[in-house]
Amino acid sequence: MKEGVSKKEAVNIREDIPALRMAAETWRPAQVLHWAFQTFGDTVAISSAFGAEGMVVIDIASRLQESFRLFTLDTEFLFPETYSLMDRVEQKYGIAIERVFPLLPPEEQERSLGPALWQRDPDQCCNIRKVEPLRRKLGELQAWVTSIRRDQTAARATAGKIEWDEKFGLVKVNPLADWSSKQVWQYIREHEVPYNALHDLSYPSIGCTHCTRAVRPGENPRAGRWAGYSKTECGLHVIEPATEAQG
Ligand code: SF4
Repeated sequence: MKEGVSKKEAVNIREDIPALRMAAETWRPAQVLHWAFQTFGDTVAISSAFGAEGMVVIDIASRLQESFRLFTLDTEFLFPETYSLMDRVEQKYGIAIERVFPLLPPEEQERSLGPALWQRDPDQCCNIRKVEPLRRKLGELQAWVTSIRRDQTAARATAGKIEWDEKFGLVKVNPLADWSSKQVWQYIREHEVPYNALHDLSYPSIGCTHCTRAVRPGENPRAGRWAGYSKTECGLHVIEPATEAQG
């Protein structure tokens, strides 16, 4: 794997983003990933919570090169099925997942902020367990790869396949931006990609145990995330005005 671009080159890439974003619109996911690997080498990593889309990105990456960086935000509140899938990923693809933990272990969070913070203030809980760990991880990278799709939430509708991430200050690569859920599942079946067992139990979108439930027939696929709250994102993929995010 080659080394990443220098700081100066990174500045040039930022200037090139609008043109790259436009060009990448016709690129297939493998072309987008190939560009990212060639451009950033060891300074690009795939971020994944091992949902269906994330598994497709990982599988495509494994067909491009033997080794690549893959990290996950381990909130310590994940389902046993998710941890089990992580073990399968490491075995099947022969890579070590970089697990990023919150600074506060669950017991300490409870001691300092009270019990069940996810019920009282899910934004603060996500900030502690997802956003801060992500910010810390992205600080060592020049680009990150996500598996978001435009039709998942309103906040993701305008995602480019290659874009500048104002919130975290690096290049963001979304190879599946224009894919549908149908395309994702077709790929999984055709390529026999492993997936989270909860998907077969009416969990189309899977996060922490405390904030994820199965969806009922006819519900939006993300209705099982933060059910009962107006929250639809953990803050990882939301662009904040003027400053400028596995959720
Ligand atoms: S999804 Fe729920 S439990 Fe997980 S970090 Fe966010 S609020 Fe906390």
